[in-house]
Amino acid sequence: MEDSVQIRCTRCKNIFRDRAKRLQNGYSRQCPSCEIVLFFDEDSHDPNIKQAMRTARRARKQLRESEDASTRKAAAAPRQYSGRSASNARGTEDDGAD
Ligand SMILES: [Zn+2]
Repeated sequence: MEDSVQIRCTRCKNIFRDRAKRLQNGYSRQCPSCEIVLFFDEDSHDPNIKQAMRTARRARKQLRESEDASTRKAAAAPRQYSGRSASNARGTEDDGAD
């Protein structure tokens, strides 16, 4: 699952990546190339920042959904597994008796 987002620097146009979870209103970081400090805000006048914020928001949503799905799967798995192993054990016993 993609949890990092591409950001294009306003000044030097260098493209770097940062975690989607970090890219929220009020976050700021330095460009690794020209070291200008970029401020992340969904209302930013900079289209590069806006784009990154939109991508980050979508990525966070996908991450949440995949975490939900894996949580549900993890909760369902033990029940499914014990049910199957119990019927397997019974099946083996029956085969032996016959
Ligand atoms: Zn830069």
